[in-house]
Amino acid sequence: MRLILANPRGFCAGVHMAIDVVDQVLDLFPGEELYVYHEIVHNRHVVGRFISRGVKFVDDVDEVPAGKIVVFSAHGIPPDVRARARARGLTAIDATCPLVTKVHAEAVRYARQGYQILLVGHKNHQEVIGTTGEAPDATQVVESPDDIPGLTIRDPEKLVYLTQTTLSTDDAGLIIEALKRAFPGIKSPPSEDICYATTNRQHAVRTIAPECDLVLVIGSKNSSNSVRLTEIAANVGTPARLLDDVSEVDWSWFGTGAETVLVTAGASAPEDLVASLCRALLARFGGTIETRDVFEEDVEFAQPGALRKLMTDRGIDPRSRRLRVSAPTVTAEAYGAVPLTVSAARTNAPDVGHR
Ligand code: SF4
Repeated sequence: MRLILANPRGFCAGVHMAIDVVDQVLDLFPGEELYVYHEIVHNRHVVGRFISRGVKFVDDVDEVPAGKIVVFSAHGIPPDVRARARARGLTAIDATCPLVTKVHAEAVRYARQGYQILLVGHKNHQEVIGTTGEAPDATQVVESPDDIPGLTIRDPEKLVYLTQTTLSTDDAGLIIEALKRAFPGIKSPPSEDICYATTNRQHAVRTIAPECDLVLVIGSKNSSNSVRLTEIAANVGTPARLLDDVSEVDWSWFGTGAETVLVTAGASAPEDLVASLCRALLARFGGTIETRDVFEEDVEFAQPGALRKLMTDRGIDPRSRRLRVSAPTVTAEAYGAVPLTVSAARTNAPDVGHR
């Protein structure tokens, strides 16, 4: 079997930051009860590992006892959740990804300017609930072109569309085209809302999947960007499977001779799960691994201000702590003791802004 590891894959800067916030609070304030509002990131293993370290995940801030620390997840929250946490005297640390916060700010600004906002995204996703909450009276969610006839539009010249950060660039493009056809005067966001990590991971799959028999995506079923990677593979004609970890492999997937397999991971999936999958595949089928670099990413986000303030209040110098961001380690030992070819292949990818 020839395994191709897509680069980039796995953790993005927002996920690194959010996980690191929880990790650092556990580390800095041992013995203190820590609550996280919603899954910190949409990955079963990340959440399970924090639960085993004592973190309590809640779906309502009213479940957090007064005075305790609560971390808001990477997906963002509507403002009323922030207000309720304040009213309960909670110490809130907002681990919302700055690229989600950017979309929130756009929603607030356009609503203030009298625009109606068409938010392209999945209605029940935490991020969309959070963004909608910034301007609930001005926002309507569009999940597909079929939703367009049902929209209530006051003034088609005072319309803007925004998008969820983790959509399929293919699907979002189709919906945006349909919106532009229906409302030629609709305004675009000042910069792309689909984030660099989503765009880069999808572009890597779009580029490499056509030469593969199968694409395996490590990620959880509720991880939007992970699900989208399987859809992108299907769009270019390669079957894809989404799995939380190696235990979900069905060996019949390989029965028809899947000789070249692309392995990637959603932005919330830990790299050790990728390594376990590769080891299992190589133990069973033998073969080689190569990495395929499509983009280099060097995005890093700072610790949230509330965490720095909490450290200062407790006598810890925030400058003494840094986010522990590290690129995936690609070694033959980590992925199975097999020859490893690091490919220098690089596509002429379009400029997608942040990398
Ligand atoms: S996928 Fe994009 S928006 Fe979501 S946390 Fe990562 S960088 Fe932020």
